[in-house]
Amino acid sequence: MKINALVATDAAQPLSSSQIALRPLQQQDVKIEILYCGVCHSDLHMARNEWAVSRYPLVPGHEIVGRIVETGTAVDKFAAGDIVGVGVMVDSCRECHFCKQQEEQYCEAGFTATYNGIDKYTGESTWGGYAQNVVVDQDFVVSVPQHLPLSGVAPMLCAGVTVWSPLRHYNVQAGTRVGVVGLGGLGHMAVKLASALGAEVTLFTTSPEKGEDARRLGARHVVVSRDAEQMASAQTTLDLIIDCVAAPHDLDPYLATLKTNGRLVLVGIPDRPHLSPNITPMVFRRLSISGSSIGSIKETQEMLDFCGKHNITADVEMIAGEDIEQAFARMLKGDVKYRFVIDMQRTRW
Ligand SMILES: [Zn+2]
Ligand SMILES: [Zn+2]
Repeated sequence: MKINALVATDAAQPLSSSQIALRPLQQQDVKIEILYCGVCHSDLHMARNEWAVSRYPLVPGHEIVGRIVETGTAVDKFAAGDIVGVGVMVDSCRECHFCKQQEEQYCEAGFTATYNGIDKYTGESTWGGYAQNVVVDQDFVVSVPQHLPLSGVAPMLCAGVTVWSPLRHYNVQAGTRVGVVGLGGLGHMAVKLASALGAEVTLFTTSPEKGEDARRLGARHVVVSRDAEQMASAQTTLDLIIDCVAAPHDLDPYLATLKTNGRLVLVGIPDRPHLSPNITPMVFRRLSISGSSIGSIKETQEMLDFCGKHNITADVEMIAGEDIEQAFARMLKGDVKYRFVIDMQRTRW
């Protein structure tokens, strides 16, 4: 089945509207009419081949919210009309240790990415959410609480779950003191989710003007990371830090804000390595540095249910598909609060 999509044809060309063919509906598949798709930084990296793994033509987009319009004969979890989400993964091996314990994001065979992955039925590329439709196995689809504004739900499928997973894995709860580094797409979700979990949140930012917004989103404290005095006052106050900054930076000032047994979790992927941290304080205060990759389908559903209960969505700016290159350019300057979302119904293909 042919549909319209925003397609990158090579690293130098802007995305443009053209037709792609979706795989035929398999027994376990649902076909989704896409309503909204968030614009993640990875989309830009992949469209421009900045990680040197892009295969063209390529359709980005892995923060998808839409409505089911067709179901395969063996689909039992969803029905036509259901409002659902699709995130970064659309399949995995289902047999390895991690798949068996519902941590598909760490599948030993590597999960199938929503776009630029290899479709196991066709052997061709998977197509992302900058499109009218997507076909996905029901096991990689999540239910969306219908009362939430759906445009703001889209970014939860990647940005939201990427910070939710470490918050839950390290058992953040009422009274936990959580630091968040960077107030962008991921950081603003981390502030909202951590504070809704009952944590006392400190936001670290290089931009003093972001302080007011951070407090509105739920941060109790704001520390300007370039201000040595403010950083000194935050020393040994935190249990866990979610560091959302992808650019290479010095980790030592953040390690200094951790209490004994504290942990710094990195969720951004730098294009060059961070400086090596100073190991001495890590030894003397039993500090840890961890990475964390998106989240499982189970965690994504948990997060959406939690957001439904607490009325949490991302702060978004809506665009039509034809505005995507402008949005990419503004995203590079950090000029978005806090995520662009493509409105498919407004898009002229
Ligand atoms: Zn993403
Ligand atoms: Zn697996």
